[in-house]
Amino acid sequence: MTDALSFDRSMDFDYGVAAEMAPGVRRLVARNPGPMTFKGTNTYLVGRREIAVIDPGPDDPVHRSTILAAAGTSRITHIVLTHTHRDHSAGIPALKAETGAVTCGFGGEGDERRAAAIEHVEAKAFLQSSFVPDIPLADNQSISGPGWSLKAIHTPGHAPDHLCFDLAGAGLLFSGDHVMGWNTTVIAPPEGRMSDYMVSLEKLLAFGEGHHRLYLAGHGETLQQPYRQVRAYLLHRRMREAAIFDCVKEGLESVTAITDRIYRGIAPAILSAAKLAVLAHLEHLLERGLVSCDGLPSLHQRFHLAS
Ligand SMILES: [Zn+2]
Repeated sequence: MTDALSFDRSMDFDYGVAAEMAPGVRRLVARNPGPMTFKGTNTYLVGRREIAVIDPGPDDPVHRSTILAAAGTSRITHIVLTHTHRDHSAGIPALKAETGAVTCGFGGEGDERRAAAIEHVEAKAFLQSSFVPDIPLADNQSISGPGWSLKAIHTPGHAPDHLCFDLAGAGLLFSGDHVMGWNTTVIAPPEGRMSDYMVSLEKLLAFGEGHHRLYLAGHGETLQQPYRQVRAYLLHRRMREAAIFDCVKEGLESVTAITDRIYRGIAPAILSAAKLAVLAHLEHLLERGLVSCDGLPSLHQRFHLAS
């Protein structure tokens, strides 16, 4: 299957070194590289006199001390979270204790049915559901300090509580795990939801071509042509979904059989993520009445063409 996707797997950085990405915006990469985190989680410092830290990253004392060293004599006043996955959020309590900063994250209305489903699945392994922000942010709500203002853009899909942040007047978007240049984001049900993800991609396009010059992602390098990338991701998911729908039409019923067909030769390390991606697409087809299954959609369910 071919489509318009291209990935940027280059990344110019050194662990422990705060790199200036734009005036008043610096990036530190945490030392938690892996198949899902690429080189590690990107932590951003926004502001000069008073600083907002976007995504403190894992609970790693070394990373925390580099954040504090980069802040220097400036005060860290806000800790801002894109979403409650541990590779972004686990460092919050210790950084808050050190700095006295207020924490800011999604606090809007969630989907209750989905929240209940998330409660009893292994998604908890990477979801930090106990996090309650000091400042709960709704869609379009801003927080600010001297010389900076960040507006929360609710972008569920990868995670129900995912926020991107628009840096006012800078043409920059902190895109978290919603849009990254090194790879497509993981949409793993029940926490991840394909229909939300697609709508959240359209939401970024609705800012209008050129509104954001750069996306600063949660992992990997900055996106220099973000609109092209977002359009490519939309196209990629639509094509993949069409291919999965074809599998169902051909009579492949299980997530495993469909995954084997679609992701032929995939690395074992990411096989379970691929199965969840297939399930996410099946859910999306199910929501639109194109596919059916007997009970709730799951990895062990059998899927059929809706009659
Ligand atoms: Zn994540």
